[in-house]
Amino acid sequence: MQKCVAVLGGGISGLSACYYLSKTSNVSKVVLLEATGRFGGWINTTRREDGAVFEHGPRGVRPAGAVGRNTLNMLSDLGLEREILPVPHDHVASKNRFLYVNGELHKLPSSISGVVKTVPPFSRPIILSVMKEVLVRKGKQEDESVHSFVSRRLGSELADIAMDCLCRGVFAGDSRKLSVRSCFPPLHRAEQDWGSVLLGMLFGGEKAGTGGTSALAQRAKAESWAQWSLTDGMQTLPDALQEALRGRERVEIHHSAPVRSLSYTAGGWEIKQEDGATLKADHVISALPASVLASLLPPAARSLSHQLCEINSVSVGVVNLEYEGSVLPVTGFGHLIPSSEDRGLLGIVYDSVLFPQHNRRGEPTTRMTVMMGGAWFEETLGGPDEVKVEVLLDRAVQAVRSHLNITSSPVWSKAAVLKNCIPQYHLGHWKRLEAMRRYISDHALPLTLTGASFDGVSVNDVIFSGRTAAEGLVGKI
Ligand code: FAD
Repeated sequence: MQKCVAVLGGGISGLSACYYLSKTSNVSKVVLLEATGRFGGWINTTRREDGAVFEHGPRGVRPAGAVGRNTLNMLSDLGLEREILPVPHDHVASKNRFLYVNGELHKLPSSISGVVKTVPPFSRPIILSVMKEVLVRKGKQEDESVHSFVSRRLGSELADIAMDCLCRGVFAGDSRKLSVRSCFPPLHRAEQDWGSVLLGMLFGGEKAGTGGTSALAQRAKAESWAQWSLTDGMQTLPDALQEALRGRERVEIHHSAPVRSLSYTAGGWEIKQEDGATLKADHVISALPASVLASLLPPAARSLSHQLCEINSVSVGVVNLEYEGSVLPVTGFGHLIPSSEDRGLLGIVYDSVLFPQHNRRGEPTTRMTVMMGGAWFEETLGGPDEVKVEVLLDRAVQAVRSHLNITSSPVWSKAAVLKNCIPQYHLGHWKRLEAMRRYISDHALPLTLTGASFDGVSVNDVIFSGRTAAEGLVGKI
């Protein structure tokens, strides 16, 4: 039996690791240490008194797949069923997604008829690229950039526009640097197992999941949800986890408790905190960003620190805007902008279409979020520590004006730089992970790496990684 487990970092992955550990009696104590004054990490919601809700981090979670079901099972366990705001596949926000190319908005095809004819910005029907894909030979590389993979299999136009945009929308990253194997494992697996993305998607099926399926997960399937949020915003999830953990025996959770250094002897870990306090633990689950963990590890683990430092993160400028009235010229999820159009502007989410329940009470309003920077932050906006929020706000309002022809001024706004908020799984990420985990096992270090830096950045992925970390210690939960 493990005695004391320290979980470092109170983002959603650290909270989840604690939550799963708290369900077993195989540990005598679990202590969570979070640096800031609140739990949730990048999950961060502003709730205004007039009922308006603004997300500064994640805003929608997909219910699909084993990891999607796992999160819904957790929500159900936490009693959050009534808080769910589902967005089904036939919702306008699921059907209408736009790209901003050559100074115009283009709706992405969302039906068969859309893929069999030529739909701008593409110069030929998408179905032609997809059919030809089946004949493309399997690549020989162990890993490849997303751009190179899609170029090779589906043609340069889909790589330059569609995949470039998707990588900017999900990772705020550069498709020419991101690894297909680590960022889009189903694409990589489909080619490996079936020799084709199309065949893999059609016949590959889903990997077996863990745990049962709650009534909530069954409802998501029956009602064909594309994504969901929560009535008072995503922050409700870490809040509920925190509340559940506070009531559990053997669990201590502390915010405003930054970790300053870690040292390890045969007797276990010594975790020094900023205020001078020391915690002793038999095992550490790190739910910290990779570079933060690297800075805390002892000099003896230098080679592990070096590998951790190779996992970079990018910063994103996030600007929430609220306009009086219904001012959008189109309805849908939002639009993404390829790097060839504007390197610094990543995309605009039409939040009030996606979750109108988050609009303020009373007269109609339009809420949007403009995302900028990412892998192009320094080049287009300057250093994340230096850029002024007024510059971000101005850039965002200009983008809304020129892309959507909205000439009025926002009645409310909030702009912020989210520094190093999205880890980048560059080419060879899987090899770095293998090397780090091999180091940990070869040196018998009681350390588990979890969270967004390693095995997936989505909310579902990091919750699942928290679960995997806990199960790695105590067995199936
Ligand atoms: P973090 O949230 O980074 O948590 C790490 C925690 O460690 C933080 O709380 C930090 O304060 C703490 N910490 C740091 N240093 C120390 C220290 N020395 N001691 C103690 N604690 C420390 N995902 C989706 O699924 N859907 C979306 O729509 C979506 N949109 C996103 C939009 C944005 C703008 C961003 C940034 C991310 C988005 N994501 C989305 C991704 C997802 O939100 C994140 O990957 C996820 O929240 C990361 O959780 P985490 O717990 O792994 O890391």
